[in-house]
Order: sequence, then structure tokens, then C-alpha cells
Amino acid sequence: MTVTRFAPSPTGYMHIGNLRTALYSYLIAKHDDGNFILRIEDTDRERLVEGATDVIKSTLAITGLNYDEGPEVGGEHGPYVQSERKAIYMEYAKKLVDMGYAYYCFCTKERLEELHSEDATGGYDRHCRNLSKEEIEKNLASGIPFVIRQKMPLEGTTSYVDSVFGEISMNNSELQDQILMKADGYPTYNFAHVIDDYLMGVTHVVRGSEYLTSTPKYVLLYDAFGWERPNYVHLPLLMGKNEDGSVSKLSKRHGAVSFQDLVRDGYLPEAIINYIALLGWCPKQSETEFFTLDELKTLFTIDGVSKSPAVFDFEKLLWFNGEYIHKLDDEKFYELSKEFIKTSIPANINKDRMLTLLKTRVSKLSELDEKMEFFINLPEYEKELFFNKKNKISDLGVVKTVLEAALEVLSDTNSFDNDTLFNSLMPLSEKLGMKTGAIMWCVRIAVSGMAATPGGATEIMEVIGKDETLSRIGKALAKL
Ligand code: GLU
Repeated sequence: MTVTRFAPSPTGYMHIGNLRTALYSYLIAKHDDGNFILRIEDTDRERLVEGATDVIKSTLAITGLNYDEGPEVGGEHGPYVQSERKAIYMEYAKKLVDMGYAYYCFCTKERLEELHSEDATGGYDRHCRNLSKEEIEKNLASGIPFVIRQKMPLEGTTSYVDSVFGEISMNNSELQDQILMKADGYPTYNFAHVIDDYLMGVTHVVRGSEYLTSTPKYVLLYDAFGWERPNYVHLPLLMGKNEDGSVSKLSKRHGAVSFQDLVRDGYLPEAIINYIALLGWCPKQSETEFFTLDELKTLFTIDGVSKSPAVFDFEKLLWFNGEYIHKLDDEKFYELSKEFIKTSIPANINKDRMLTLLKTRVSKLSELDEKMEFFINLPEYEKELFFNKKNKISDLGVVKTVLEAALEVLSDTNSFDNDTLFNSLMPLSEKLGMKTGAIMWCVRIAVSGMAATPGGATEIMEVIGKDETLSRIGKALAKL
């Protein structure tokens, strides 16, 4: 059975790159009806950020990336929080020492600092690699703090085959004797994740490509224990567009890159998921770019993952989001809008009609306030706004005639719904010998004060109601 995991460190917000890793990991498992595990990697105690685990869990819940095993959910391989598994790692580290693949290191911080100041890139000089058994025992007995380091082979190469990037090979002489267990008794990421992936039966390790070149060290651990190596699926880098057109690793300076910030800015989780699914993966045959999570489960295969860096394009995400919003049914849109509308909406406004007009004109929910402003307050405008080539309006006297006639019929119109309004204004066309379009143009400018609006004249009047309509036309006439 395919088993994958998402193994975030709770060190901050949910970066969009992490969410993509979670998504791909989830999809690889679910494509095969396999298991998806959430594991919290919190052994770097200094980098922990309060509340970060909750953000991770809520993000997975909101996006529908439900895990089969993990904190709270439970499962046969728990606990799923690494700090609760401390004893397990020490046991395995000692096994490695016994087998000759790891060793105790008693070097003091001062010694290591001195080493570093002499040669910043040199790394550890393997000073404790060959301590005698007696020396080690004596040090342990006298309680000298220690770390446990991996004993890297000094010659030869270590290779593995990544499902996306192909064969990766490293000279063993380049591998540092990395720390497996720290002096505080916690394992490093480098060690803990290997032990856990093995114990949790993970078949596919899915993660960012920053781990591509450290993986030879990890496969050496599998080999040392005699465990079968998992499949590695390293994901392409995520880049952001810089102002000068170049690209660099996606970061805050490119815009909102946390899931929470995007949601707060009015992006829909479904749109975000759909968009990031395509950041590094492409379906084999598909006419469309729009996929639900269920469709992705069916379509997603590892051979569709590309190794070329993917560029996060905010414009494209915005477009995706707009498409998702436009397709929402009205009730759902009203519901979602609530959180975003800060404007207090006066009683004359037909709110539902207004939102329906706006639904297909916003690309994200945070645009609502700004886009609805003209319904609530008539903007300042100059009378020249009435001029229009297409409708052949170049004479303000004509505009005045139209608005006077409109004011008269609208005063006598009692039901302010779109159809009735249209039927009231229609006869003016024949009466004034003008095209309906030209009449509607004049009325729309008068009731909106804007050249481009969501909705036509009658739709806007339906939203703002009779009194406001008459008052706005009156104001226009006063201008002319
Ligand atoms: N805790 C690691 C991280 O957040 C996980 C890497 C991995 O998936 O192995 O980067």
C-alpha cells in the first residue's frame, strides 16, 4: 500500500510551498487509495512557533487534505509528534553506534566554534570519530554532554534514484559526519525523519528539492539498518517573479505567500489548491485546467511532476480565483462575502441584487468593498462623463432631455425591479427618437457617476431603489 506523509516543522505560517508539498503527498497516496500521514517535526526546540501546529491542522482541514493518521486522529504508528517519540530515537542511535555507523562526540561548543572560525566551510574534523571504548565509557560515566554523529564512509559514492530528478550521486568524502542526536537529547531532523519514515511504513517521501542533495546521507542510514529505502519524490523549486522580470525563490517580497494571508485576502481555498496543483505538475491529457480535489486524486501521477522550477504567478492565481468566484451559486457567495464586507450597507440598497451583480465582477472577495462603493455613495463626476462616441452623445442638451423624460417616467414607476424599469424606459426611445442604448447610457451615468459599472442602468436602479435613483438623476440635471 502507498503510504505518504506530510511532515512540517511548526516554525511559522503555512507557506504556499509547504501546502503544495502536502497536496502532492496527499494526492500520491490517494491516487492509489493509500494512507496519508501528518507528522509534526518539532525537535528543533528553538525554532518552535506557538500556534503553528494549529495553523497546519486548520489549513489541511480547510483544504480537505484529510489525513488517515496523525495527531488527534491517531493510528497504529503514533505518537505523531516527534517530541513525544524522543526515547525511540535514542534507542536507534545507540544501535547505530553499536553497529559502527555512528559515534559519540564530546567536543565542546568552544572547540567547535574555534574550528569554525579557522575554517567556516570545513565542517566537523571528526575529532571524536576514533575515541577508544574506555575513553567513551569514562566520558559517559562522568556525565560529559555528548552528541551522536553519523559515521560517513570516507571513500566511494552514494547514489539513489529520485522519481522526479533521476539519479543523484554524491562523493562520500563530501558528506559531513552530521549530528543525529543533539546534546539536549532530541534528534535532529536528519535522523528523526528517517527513523519515523521507516517505522511509519512510508513508501514515498515527498518533499521540496532542498533535500535532494542531503538524501544520500539518509539512504546511508537505511542501508546501515538494513532497511528498504523508500521512493523519493522531490518537488521542483517554487519561484516568484521579481520586478525586473527575473525569478528567485518564492518569498514574502513577492506577495502574500502564506495560505492564511491569501484566504484573508479573499482567495478561495479550492482555487488555491487547484492553482498550486499545477505548480510543478501537469495532467497527461486534459482540456481544462480546472480540477476539484477528487479529480486531482484520479489524475495525479508522479510522472506528471516536472523537475523545472515552477513560477508562482499571482496574476494567474487571481484569474483562477475569479473563475471560481463567478461559478459560486449566489447563496454561497452571499455567505462568503459576509466576512469581507466592512462597509455598512444602507437600508435602501437591495443587498442580494447588488452582490449578484458584483459576483461576476470581482476576482477576490476583498475587492467587494471598493466595488460596491458607488452603489452607496454617488461618486463625484464631471458632466463631460456623459459624452460618448459609441452612443453618439456629444450634446449635453440631449442628455438633459433624456434625463428629464426619464425622471418623469421613473417617478411614476412604483415597482423598481429590473424588468419593470426596463419597460418604463423603453418607450422613451421612440418618443425621443433615440436608440435605447443611448437612453440607457445617459441614465446609467446619472445613477452611477461612473463610465464602467457592474450591471446596466436598470440593474443599478434596482439595487439603489427609487428615492436614490430620483435623487441621483436630479443631481445630474443640476449639473447640466
Ligand atoms: N520538517 C521538514 C520540513 O518542514 C520535513 C522535510 C521532509 O518532508 O522530509 O522541511
